[in-house]
Amino acid sequence: MPSIFTRIIAGEIPGAFVFQDDAWVALLDIRPVNPGHCLLIPRHEAAYLADLPPAVLASLGGHVARLTRTVKSATGAPAVNVVVNDGPEAGQEVPHCHLHVIPRHAGDGKRLAWPAAPYPPGALEAMAVALRAAW
Ligand code: AMP
Repeated sequence: MPSIFTRIIAGEIPGAFVFQDDAWVALLDIRPVNPGHCLLIPRHEAAYLADLPPAVLASLGGHVARLTRTVKSATGAPAVNVVVNDGPEAGQEVPHCHLHVIPRHAGDGKRLAWPAAPYPPGALEAMAVALRAAW
């Protein structure tokens, strides 16, 4: 069954588009953290970012950069959060990968509230070894 984003891209469901090309679209999130919150969505339907075709991934960086500039310019926000919820355990609700570009204003009270803690002794280097091996 096509994702809700595929259905928006196909014109079956309304979407407020900001940008479209042959591989990507950007549109407004209907439940914005702040007004101007956009989603950058590949036309190719894959749940995980890493499962996108290489040619689609190749154009991602330029589009993210331009969308951050666009959102700041149109909203007056001095900053944005760029967020990918890459899998349901990470909070992904729509299983069609997408990037959130969220305008942020001083004192807007919005927070990515992740509890964080330092590594126990020795664990940071062990994790770096594991990640280098997996690279
Ligand atoms: P995520 O939790 O990363 O999967 O985010 C999915 C996002 O899609 C949420 O922020 C929703 O508000 C947004 N969303 C769901 N349905 C629509 C829709 N019809 N048009 C625009 N955004 C949507």
